Amino acid sequence: EAGAGSGADGVAPAALPGLAVLGDQLPVTLADGRTVDYANLDYAATAPCLSAVADAVNELLPWHASVHRGAGAASRRCTLAYERARQSVADFLDARPDDHVIFTRNTTDALNLLARALPEQTTVVGWAGEHHANLLPWPRFVRLPVPDSPDAALRSLAAALAVLCAPVRPGAPGAASGPGSVAGPVLVAVTGASNVTGEVWPVERLAAVAHRYGARIAVDAAQLAVHRPVSLRESGVDYVALSGHKLYAPFGAGVLAGRADWLDAAPPYLAGGGATEHVGDATHDVRWHTGPARHEAGTPNLLGAVALATACERIAAADRRAIDEREQVLLRRLRDGLAQLPRVAELRAFAADHDRVGIVSFAVAGVPASAVSEHLANRYGIGVRDGLFCAHPLGRRLLGEASARLGLPLGGTAVRASIGLGTTPEHVDRLLAGLRELVDAG
Ligand code: PLP
Repeated sequence: EAGAGSGADGVAPAALPGLAVLGDQLPVTLADGRTVDYANLDYAATAPCLSAVADAVNELLPWHASVHRGAGAASRRCTLAYERARQSVADFLDARPDDHVIFTRNTTDALNLLARALPEQTTVVGWAGEHHANLLPWPRFVRLPVPDSPDAALRSLAAALAVLCAPVRPGAPGAASGPGSVAGPVLVAVTGASNVTGEVWPVERLAAVAHRYGARIAVDAAQLAVHRPVSLRESGVDYVALSGHKLYAPFGAGVLAGRADWLDAAPPYLAGGGATEHVGDATHDVRWHTGPARHEAGTPNLLGAVALATACERIAAADRRAIDEREQVLLRRLRDGLAQLPRVAELRAFAADHDRVGIVSFAVAGVPASAVSEHLANRYGIGVRDGLFCAHPLGRRLLGEASARLGLPLGGTAVRASIGLGTTPEHVDRLLAGLRELVDAG
């Protein structure tokens, strides 16, 4: 299997049957003219496609026809493939029977859809450390400070909800009511795993707190779902959003899944064909569908949905514990290596040993992050990302803390290395060697 590692490094190739990724051995030419295999350490931005995903798309392509809009054999086949894809995603997320699974463009689109579907006067509560996709779409947003531990997150949420809404009496149904300071419903918006630090958030416990106060919770699972199973049923999470392109599928398809009632009551996110049951002669005589179709107007992205669903099926069928163990070995190797380097500081919000997925951000004192990533690309054939990773408030805050820990000033941006199915120990060692060269030269 591609990128399975040697096994001799404690990185089990057995974790990856059926999960070969495309393009894991792309040749790149370095500044000195040598050619090396590209070391992709940028999975958190976009993961390469599984070859099984490409196969599924190729198989369907000759049947290219419109979904839900024809009686012809090709159209029927495409409609079936589209609805099967929806079911595969529902299974992947362990959705409740009455949850809707809506295909969107990506996580950003999914969270914006949810933001538009909120009942009037909904207040949204979240932390300042979110990705902008989970920070900016919300109207009436109560922004809590970035916590320094999962327990602090739980405490700050309980404190905020105690003010915003009254606790629900055991057995009492429905949304918050009573003597809280807000009239409408409350939604908690949180990431499942940080795209800056990889730190995993205690979403089940946060869901329990939210529900105690009659609030709902939406989880941005753009990073989490790639690395860990997500169960709507078991976690009690009300809504979840994810992106196919981070989940080993191509660009252009994402998902919003969760409770049907708000989604069925809201005006459609996209108005147009496919979303309506009836359009009358009078301008405003429109009856919208209920169900996912209400928010999927226009010709749907069939290939994107099938690709995303195939990735979900393959990942769900794999030994996820073994994949995680393999990833943790690589992550430890990377973090231990970074810790050995002078003038390098890792960004973190929680304790150093807190559970995290394969994402590490760091900064090198005296070297701008963009220069670090260019050095790694040009001299080592490594792809990483630099910047603030669409989480500006969090990035600034964590850079400040990392600088204080290191006792040296750091620049205004960081470098992020992220690990996935095609990552090998050699990729990690190459990154560390590239950084070693930089810090030794400084
Ligand atoms: N949320 C998190 C945690 C992310 O990492 C990302 C992507 O970087 C997003 C949301 C937005 O995803 P997309 O750009 O696919 O909409």
